[in-house]
Amino acid sequence: MIQLAKTEQCTACGACAYACPKQCITMKEDNQGLLHPAIDDTDCNSCNRCQSVCPILSPVEYASPMKAYAAWSTDAEERRTSASGGIAAEVYKAAIDEGRHIAGAKMNEDFSVSMESAKERSAITEFKNSKYVFSSAYGLFPRIKEILDANGKAVVIGLPCQIAALRKIFRDNENLLLMDVVCHGVTPSSYLQQHIKTLEEESGKKAARISFRDPALQTDTFTFSMYDEHGERFYAQRIVDGDKYQFGYHRAISYRENCYHCIFAKDKRISDATLSDYKGLGRMAPCSFNNKKVSSILVNSAKGESFIKNLIESKRIIAEERPVREPINGDPQLRHPSVKNKFRLSFEKEIKANAGDFEKAMSYVMHKFFITVYYQNHFLFLKRIVTKIKHIIRKIR
Ligand SMILES: Cc1cc2nc3c(=O)[nH]c(=O)nc-3n(C[C@H](O)[C@H](O)[C@H](O)COP(=O)(O)OP(=O)(O)OC[C@H]3O[C@@H](n4cnc5c(N)ncnc54)[C@H](O)[C@@H]3O)c2cc1C
Repeated sequence: MIQLAKTEQCTACGACAYACPKQCITMKEDNQGLLHPAIDDTDCNSCNRCQSVCPILSPVEYASPMKAYAAWSTDAEERRTSASGGIAAEVYKAAIDEGRHIAGAKMNEDFSVSMESAKERSAITEFKNSKYVFSSAYGLFPRIKEILDANGKAVVIGLPCQIAALRKIFRDNENLLLMDVVCHGVTPSSYLQQHIKTLEEESGKKAARISFRDPALQTDTFTFSMYDEHGERFYAQRIVDGDKYQFGYHRAISYRENCYHCIFAKDKRISDATLSDYKGLGRMAPCSFNNKKVSSILVNSAKGESFIKNLIESKRIIAEERPVREPINGDPQLRHPSVKNKFRLSFEKEIKANAGDFEKAMSYVMHKFFITVYYQNHFLFLKRIVTKIKHIIRKIR
């Protein structure tokens, strides 16, 4: 009897379903809207291909980053509309100019996200900027196979678990360049869809487009926004304003269970290059610039190095080499997976008790959070007063 990765570790990358020659594996939603692979073993001949391509059961080789850069796009508009330094957009542009196919995450009409491939520049607009939600890569695997079989070349930018799956399936194919973004976790699509529906009902408007880091409100404010079919913004809230989705996401409360056990969240990487928001810039060595929206690029292979070198030499990006440990020390996700806090544990109970109702579960958790913060602040205030009084008494004596 074939055993797939344990539910709490499975990333739902879908490599097992793609590799099964008998199509015994399908991706199914559980009662909380989370996708998992399910085997119908009637036709299974125990060939074990599903297990051998699974990046959890049969891990990929990791590489220590060779170089680190602080970098951004020289195209100001690209940088403004990208989540961070606009490196992904420049990677795509250079790839297309070299005749490569590109692949990235596209938001669908129902606000689910899927990994797609393209050859036209127009696709870059859809791929760029972060979609902080689960994305399915199932359709991408056969597409990449077609491209490689036809001697084509491709660049894929995706989540570490998806890149690990591509690495397992296509091994070290020289025509395939794989880049990952540092990732702190993904929320199931069903939670996002519920959130959008609630906001639509409250506003009486229908969302045609949403953004997790809206360029119109500066991507570094992490504003969640919704636009109607006329392009008019009818909702915009930051994490501090209390948007339930962003709150759950950025406080590591609402991820898929596997994200808290992620084996790819570490300093050694599975891709040719790793992109992230640069955190801790200048902490280990003086830096010649001090700028917002700077990306970090970790170069993890010779293939990655040659591509990034070309981006720098062709002046698509400005890059300064940094100590490799600087971005790693600056970002916890480059050292360990997101840690479960007490609010996550509370969310786990609530989401089960409310049969997958994200809005109800998150309302409860947020209420608990704000009460905790309120009492903590009052406690700290009282503690400060007591310390001051003690200090005055000591002085008088
Ligand atoms: C789910 C998620 C979590 C992240 N967590 C962190 C973090 O903890 N720390 C950090 O420094 N950076 C994190 N990032 C990366 C960060 O948000 C920026 O994407 C990164 O700095 C690159 O910025 P950019 O301006 O070069 O590219 P961007 O314009 O942001 O493009 C990024 C690339 O990521 C791909 N992408 C976007 N959303 C998804 C998705 N849902 N699934 C698969 N691929 C996707 C796009 O197709 C694009 O190729 C995360 C990104 C995502 C998608």
